[in-house]
Amino acid sequence: MSGPLPPTARPVRPATLVRFACLALLLTLCACTAAPRRPDPSGQPAGATVATTPAPQLLMVSIDGLRADALGRGDTPNLDRLAAGGVRAQKMRPSYPVLTFPNHYTLVTGLRPDRHGVVHNTMKDAELGRFIVADKDAGRVPGWWQGVPLWTSAERAGIATAVWAWPGASAPRDGVLPRYWHEFDASIPLDARMDQVAAWMTTPDGPRPGLVAVYLENVDGAGHDHGPDAPETHAAIRAVDAAIGGLLARLDAAGLSDRVNVVVVSDHGMANVPAGHYLAVEDMASMEEAEVVSIGQVIGLIPRPGHEAAVTRRLAGRHSHYECWPKAEIPVRLHYGHHPRVPPLVCQMDEGWNALPRETLQKRNAEGTQDHGAHGYDPDSPTMAAVFVAHGPAFREGLVLPPFDNVDVYPLLVHLLGIAPQPNDGDPTTLLPALREP
Ligand code: AMP
Ligand code: ZN
Ligand code: ZN
Repeated sequence: MSGPLPPTARPVRPATLVRFACLALLLTLCACTAAPRRPDPSGQPAGATVATTPAPQLLMVSIDGLRADALGRGDTPNLDRLAAGGVRAQKMRPSYPVLTFPNHYTLVTGLRPDRHGVVHNTMKDAELGRFIVADKDAGRVPGWWQGVPLWTSAERAGIATAVWAWPGASAPRDGVLPRYWHEFDASIPLDARMDQVAAWMTTPDGPRPGLVAVYLENVDGAGHDHGPDAPETHAAIRAVDAAIGGLLARLDAAGLSDRVNVVVVSDHGMANVPAGHYLAVEDMASMEEAEVVSIGQVIGLIPRPGHEAAVTRRLAGRHSHYECWPKAEIPVRLHYGHHPRVPPLVCQMDEGWNALPRETLQKRNAEGTQDHGAHGYDPDSPTMAAVFVAHGPAFREGLVLPPFDNVDVYPLLVHLLGIAPQPNDGDPTTLLPALREP
C-alpha cells in the first residue's frame, strides 16, 4: 500500500465474501511460486528519474458496474458535466465474458479476453494452477496477464504511471510496474483514495504521472447486493460521482484543469436478479462427471476422463435458463474459445439467472440472503452496456458517439499518450471523431 491513508472505515461487502468463499469451496488454490518484483510500497518514485511529462496528463477512471443508462438521470452531475463539455458514448459494448477482470484488462490492452488470457474472474491454467479475483498473490503472477498493458508501454516510453487497484497492475510485465501503485482495498473511503490520486497527479517532488488509472468497485458492490435500481445503488453512484467531482475540483485548484484528459469508463452494466433465479451447478453436471472451473453466469466445465462424450452430448445446446457450447462452437460474435484457459464446455446463463454450488444456495436460503444484481450476461444486452465519457484538451465538446466495442478504447489511449500501440483487437478509427485534432 502507498501513502498515509485513514484506517479501515468500511468492511468488505458480505456478498463479496460469500461469492469468494463459495469459489473457495469449489477450488483448491494453487501455491503460486513466481516471485514478481513488488512495487515500492511507499508510493514514492522508484527507479530512474523521468522528466515531468510535458503532454497533458491522462486520467482514466473505471466505475465498476456503472450501466450506460445511469448517466443523465440525476445521480451523476459531475459525469454529466464532463460529458456535456466533452464526449460520451450512447453506450460501450463490453467484451465476453462480461466480468470485471477480463474487461478491465481489455480496456488497458485492447485485446479481447480470449487473447489476453484473463478469460474469466476464475480460471485454471495447466501450468499456473488456479486464479480467483480475491487471491492477491495470483494477481501478482505475470503469466496470468498476457499482452502488454498500457502502463508498461508508457513506462517504457519514459512516461511515469500511477495506478489505483486496476486489475493487472500488481503483476510486473517484463519487470516493469506502474511507478506509483496502490492495491485493491475496499475498506479505504473514496475521499482518501482521491486524496492519493490528487497527490500523485500534483506531486512537486517526483515525476508527475502522465497516465493515472483508478479503479472504483463501489457501484458494482451495491448493484450486486441491492439490484441495479435500488436506492443503495443510486447512492453508491452519487458517492462515486461526487468523489470524481472532488478530484476534478482539486486538479482545477492546482491549475491542471486544461492539462488533463479525463476518460471515465465502466467495465459492464448490471442486470436485475429476481428472487429465486438460481440453479445448482451440480444439476448441470455432477462433480464425478466434470470439474467446475467457474460458477455464476458463465460456467466453465472440464469433463472428467471417460465422461467427455456423455457430458458434452447432454449439455451442448439450449436448456431452461442457460445454453452450453463446446469450446469450438461458442458463437463467433463472442470472440471466445481459442485460449487454452477456456474450458472445454462453457454454459451461459440467461439474463438474471445464476448457477451456484448447492451448498451455497442452501446457506443463502437459510440466511435469506441473495444477490439482487448480476452481470456476466450477453454483451449485446442493454443491461450489460458500459459507460464511456471523455473530456479535456484533446476532446471535442458535446459529442455523443454511437455504440462501440470496449477494445476500441486502447487505440485512443495510446494516441493520447503519444506512444506506439501494441498489437490489439481495437479499431483505431472508431474514436477519431472524438478528437479535436485526429
Ligand atoms: P465481479 O463482480 O465478480 O466481476 O468482481 C468485482 C468485485 O471484485 C468488485 O466489486 C470488488 O469487490 C472485487 N474486486 C475488484 N478488484 C479486486 C481485487 N484486486 N482483489 C480483490 N477483490 C477485488
Ligand atoms: Zn465489474
Ligand atoms: Zn460485479
